[in-house]
Amino acid sequence: MNREDFELTQSIEELPCESQPIGTSSAALIDTPLSQDLALFYQVAMSHPESHLFEVTLRIQNWQAKTLDLKMPVWTPGSYLVREYSRHLQDFEAFYGAETSLNWRKLGKNHWQIETQGRSEIAVCYRVFANELTVRTNHLDETHGYFNGAALFFFVPGFQQVPIRIQILPPADWVVTTALPRVGVNTFEAQNFDALVDSPFEIGQHQIHPFEVLSKPHEFAIWGRGNLEVDRIIRDTQKIIEVEAELFGGLPYDRYIFFLHLASQAFGGLEHKDSCSLIYSRLGFRTKDKYERFMQLVAHEFFHLWNVKRIRPKGLEVFDYEHENYTPSLWFSEGTTSFYDLLIPLRAGIYDAKTYLTALSREISRYLTTPGRLVQPLSESSFDAWIKLYRPDANSANSQISYYLKGEMVSLLLDLAIRIKHQNQRSLDDVMRQMWEQFGKAEVGFTKEQLKLVLEAVAGFDLTDFYDRYIDGTEELPFDEYLVGFGLRVVSNRETGVPAIGMTLRTEGGREIVKFVETDSPAQRAAIDAGDELVAIDGLRVGSGQLDERLKDYQAGDTIEVTVFHSDELKTRSLTLAPPRATQYHLEAIEHPSTLQQQNFEGWLGVSLATVH
Ligand SMILES: [Zn+2]
Repeated sequence: MNREDFELTQSIEELPCESQPIGTSSAALIDTPLSQDLALFYQVAMSHPESHLFEVTLRIQNWQAKTLDLKMPVWTPGSYLVREYSRHLQDFEAFYGAETSLNWRKLGKNHWQIETQGRSEIAVCYRVFANELTVRTNHLDETHGYFNGAALFFFVPGFQQVPIRIQILPPADWVVTTALPRVGVNTFEAQNFDALVDSPFEIGQHQIHPFEVLSKPHEFAIWGRGNLEVDRIIRDTQKIIEVEAELFGGLPYDRYIFFLHLASQAFGGLEHKDSCSLIYSRLGFRTKDKYERFMQLVAHEFFHLWNVKRIRPKGLEVFDYEHENYTPSLWFSEGTTSFYDLLIPLRAGIYDAKTYLTALSREISRYLTTPGRLVQPLSESSFDAWIKLYRPDANSANSQISYYLKGEMVSLLLDLAIRIKHQNQRSLDDVMRQMWEQFGKAEVGFTKEQLKLVLEAVAGFDLTDFYDRYIDGTEELPFDEYLVGFGLRVVSNRETGVPAIGMTLRTEGGREIVKFVETDSPAQRAAIDAGDELVAIDGLRVGSGQLDERLKDYQAGDTIEVTVFHSDELKTRSLTLAPPRATQYHLEAIEHPSTLQQQNFEGWLGVSLATVH
């Protein structure tokens, strides 16, 4: 903190949001010489952090029309759900001069219109309630402030390309971190509204850990307490950055920030061009598994600075902040990024090939146990992200497949197909580089057809059939067909001997509640529903975690009596058990691999196939 910070902090109480309009002296805060161009200047104060209210002032200069429209985004890039950010806005006021209010009205849920009375300098004040701690929302409490531009700021329709100045007025001992260039004391400049939306702010007493990679400055800005070892995380992050920079041929930014929020039982990330926001369980760094999961999250969000932030599907080339932005290609933006988030830590030496294959097995297992993979095509899953992926319900697993998960699986098959065809001399890496060169560098959106052309150019063969079956169709992915060239196969646990009932449970307050009922399963045919409480099988109570054990006492084809509470009513359902079904899959080396299979494996993962036995 320095003296200037302190003085600005003292002026918070006089901000117009307290009800006072803007005086001429505060208008001078736009300290650059004024041109005739529209000038936008935001101030964000937080005089009572415990109230969770950000106090925002927008000053507009050189406005030329009788009315001024202001709109707030309904979603933020990277998180494909209409979140209606304006529902958190309150106390909207508009002014000109020292004390004169301007009339305004709302024309839509996120749309305010001000009558300017011919004034060219206008000030708008409002507050935004911020108490949702996720990477894509706002959070303000007595310990810090964090916000995303889409959830805090208005844009002026037609003027989204105008540069915006943002000044933060924090409590005395708080500091401000953002990827935007600093132009004054806690004052930053965004070259346009997109850049503002793409640059979250962390304000508080967070830890700042600077480090360098390839001569460029990076930092971790960490809020919250946890059991992390920062030095180790930075060392591993440096390796991840180096591996990804090598893949794409350099780092396309001047400075990069990793925002990390530590909270209880949290997981998430949101990508930006020059930063990313991560949220992770504060005590989730000790065990090997969880630490590796965190480094995968780092690898994932960092990979996005190319794939989706700069290499964008056509539907996301120009953001429409008011509506859904549809694209059939999120499987490439998210799924291919997920494919790489497992692979990059392996290449960075953070874990070994065996760990990689275990992680990949887990994903294959999740995929093959989701019935919806045979219902919803991958391109449709991408397109319908807005109404489906972010809004799961009890039927989701029956009717949908995540474009993250299937996109990852399809990327695996494509990588393997390219590698086999070209003896590991080409891979999906070449596709990424080609997409970067052709679309990412210039930020020209790619169409579904253009992506296919790039894939085909690298693969050297036609992918129409592959697309028809696995991207636009719902055919089962033939893992073994693609893996066998590398001496691997997928093995299931079908032989566990538990006859299938077709439902899963969760324990809630000591009660066994049906979480999911599979389409056309014995449970569904017997009218058992998600939400039912399982009480007994053949008149004997089913205790917590006992379902599988109890089913082992029966054979496929046996009829059992299942007692449930269905909407408070005790019901006994009769059902016939089905043959055992696989609930888990894993990758395994085949018996007696040939020299070629061993060579292919080594060319792919860099170690001998024998090491993963
Ligand atoms: Zn992602």
